[in-house]
Amino acid sequence: MRLNSAYYERILAEYQLTEESLVSIEDIRKFPFTTKADIQTYNKEFLCQPLSRITDIVSTSGTSGAPVSFYLTDNDLERLAINESKSLSIAGIHREDIVQLTTTSDRLFMAGIAYVLGLRKIGASLLRVGPGLPDLQWKLIKEHQTTVLIAVPSFILKMLEYAEKNQIDPSATSVTKIICIGEPIRNQDFSLNVLGQKITDKWPIHLYSTYASTEMATAFTECHAGKGGHHLPELVFAEVVDQQDEPVPPGTSGELVITTLGIEGMPLLRFKTGDICQYHLSLCECGRTTLRLGPLQGRKNQMIKYKGTTLYPPALTELLHELDYISAYYSEVVTDEMGLDCIKIYVAGNEKDADLISRIKEHFQARIRVTPDILVTTTQEINAIKMSFNFRKPVDFIDHRTTL
Ligand SMILES: [Zn+2]
Repeated sequence: MRLNSAYYERILAEYQLTEESLVSIEDIRKFPFTTKADIQTYNKEFLCQPLSRITDIVSTSGTSGAPVSFYLTDNDLERLAINESKSLSIAGIHREDIVQLTTTSDRLFMAGIAYVLGLRKIGASLLRVGPGLPDLQWKLIKEHQTTVLIAVPSFILKMLEYAEKNQIDPSATSVTKIICIGEPIRNQDFSLNVLGQKITDKWPIHLYSTYASTEMATAFTECHAGKGGHHLPELVFAEVVDQQDEPVPPGTSGELVITTLGIEGMPLLRFKTGDICQYHLSLCECGRTTLRLGPLQGRKNQMIKYKGTTLYPPALTELLHELDYISAYYSEVVTDEMGLDCIKIYVAGNEKDADLISRIKEHFQARIRVTPDILVTTTQEINAIKMSFNFRKPVDFIDHRTTL
């Protein structure tokens, strides 16, 4: 019966590392990183348990490459329950709450089962409604006096559109908070971003952001202060590193690297998440002293270096989202003849082309101090391009770089 991973056995032997190599927490830096590609290539070699001990098998979404499987023992499910109950408790959820889950709890989706187990541990009542169906969501809110929604923020916008058309007043319902998953709702200074603002303009409600991934099986969830997701240090060891793999100081962007703690099935050592974010160590308004993770800025492999500035596609989308005088847009990054990243923004609007271009350029200059190329076209053309990738949803950003 194997109780360690064939992959790490091989890698640690290669680096001449043993368990004695890890005495103090700083020693972790002697250990090599694990990348998404490593897990994709050697997926089953990461497994530390015989299949007879595996209780649940989940899978990553595959939005950044081939999906990988994660194997959980019964103890891992208990750890997941502890993680989610602690995490949702940070957001103030308690046993009196009636929680409506608007995301799937199947399809090999780890977060779904985490919410179910975590809420059960808290003792809250759970309505597993699943994704979509705004009419049913509102109906069940009314019927069961739901107090908390767990939702993807852009789905909340859909629910609000439905509410508007059907004379439902969200503020008159029993819902008092929304746990927002999958999409950031804040800017780096913790103010609400356009998405967060759009929701609260129509529904003045408290939004709590949570960030998690299948690989770390741990969530970083905001307290009522909304100043970044609180770290659960007993479940995951977190590092934030720069491009040279050196640790960055608080408030500086870097890649989140995690080492899972207490996992039996598929533990990971120094896993590079590819997620770029900033961390904060100052005392939180809630009194917690744990590290807090700011909103995700983007994926490391989508980083754009443009005229001396480093930025990520979500920042471009966010800036364009703010412009109510454009009717459609998408941005594109290409490699120019010098081998450098070049940003092109395609827009449509009702103003004269030259006016539109200068207004957008001024906006970019003021906000990120660089101005991309702005190209004016029609809404129809933009929408056709955005849908032409055969993805499940329209894209706002297209990466055409040849040298990634
Ligand atoms: Zn706090």
